[in-house]
Amino acid sequence: MSSSGLAARRRGTGSGLALVVSGPSGAGKNTAIDRLLTDTPDLVYSVSHTTRPPRPGEEDGVDYHFVSTVDFDRMVAAGAFIEHVIYLGDQYGTSECEITRLAAKGFDIVLNIDTQGACELRRVGVPGTVLVFVFFAPPSLDQLGERLRARGSESEAAIAERLRVASREIEALPIFDYLVINDTIENAVRELSAIVEAERLRVLSVESNA
Ligand code: 5GP
Repeated sequence: MSSSGLAARRRGTGSGLALVVSGPSGAGKNTAIDRLLTDTPDLVYSVSHTTRPPRPGEEDGVDYHFVSTVDFDRMVAAGAFIEHVIYLGDQYGTSECEITRLAAKGFDIVLNIDTQGACELRRVGVPGTVLVFVFFAPPSLDQLGERLRARGSESEAAIAERLRVASREIEALPIFDYLVINDTIENAVRELSAIVEAERLRVLSVESNA
């Protein structure tokens, strides 16, 4: 068999690989994901919908689709989301059409969602995708607190609430396939890249294309 024939026996790109990256907000997930996307061909970001107001520098359609509660509820009623949650009082959801559109274009996808949403996706699956679950953690809750304070976008009470949520999120670790600890951003990005590369090198099973 030629080597190009053998290459077709591995998953490669465009087989619906969907990397679900979850973990406490403020752990550096967004920065690491941005770098991973810049460094990795054929990997794109699934833009979620949220009712949370944009933070300074955030762009509609790029960071999130920022929508009103009425519009979000309408989408829920129409069954538009493959998962949706309320996180600290705001609604967040992944629209099915976002995922199927990106997968149909031959892209692999990164989803940046909370652990509740990840548990839901683990339970229901997403047709046409191969879901791989990555828990993205800070080295410690103390360091997470420091990072949230350094971000300067939230009150001390909001930070305390995020830390409480974070310690609960860590309890979901057993449903994940991989654990990335953000001790330095370089290490975290390298580990995320290694996961994508390893998943793309997987041998296709005979009966499935994934
Ligand atoms: P932030 O408000 O800091 O952007 O996000 C808060 C949390 O919501 C983060 O943990 C983020 O990963 C999560 N999140 C963002 N989009 C979604 C989504 O579509 N679904 C779920 N379940 N969580 C999301």
